[in-house]
Order: sequence, then C-alpha cells, then structure tokens
Amino acid sequence: MAQPTKCEECGGRMEEGFIPDSTYGAYLPSHWHRGPAEQSRIFGLPAGTKVDRGLMVPIRTFRCAACGLLRSYAKR
Ligand SMILES: [Zn+2]
Repeated sequence: MAQPTKCEECGGRMEEGFIPDSTYGAYLPSHWHRGPAEQSRIFGLPAGTKVDRGLMVPIRTFRCAACGLLRSYAKR
C-alpha cells in the first residue's frame, strides 16, 4: 500500500493518522463509500445516510508535519 514519507508540496516529513468521525459520544475512523450519499428513512422520517458496510473502506490519512498537506488512501 502507498505510504508517503515525504510531502509532495514542500518535502516535509509525512506522518500517518486518521480523520475521526464523532457518533453518539464516541469517535470512529472515517470510511470511504462507493456511490452518492442517499438519505435513509424509517417510517418516512429522515434517519441518517444509507450505508452498505460491504462497500465501506477505512481511510488512512497522512499529514505533512511542515505544511499540513493531507493525503488520504482508501484501500483494502
Ligand atoms: Zn508539506
């Protein structure tokens, strides 16, 4: 898997991390999902976004310690 060690913009050091999503008092790593986001409904009421867990891929994000550039990868 691609793992940048040097920033493509300034040549600074890239460090691995992730972008947390908050949910009901907890934090989870972000995922990429194929297709456009569609609203889910329960009894006709809005209930978040439809997701198929089989289509979700965890996102790894690298950040340049010097300029802050972010580069993300979503690969199984
Ligand atoms: Zn940089």
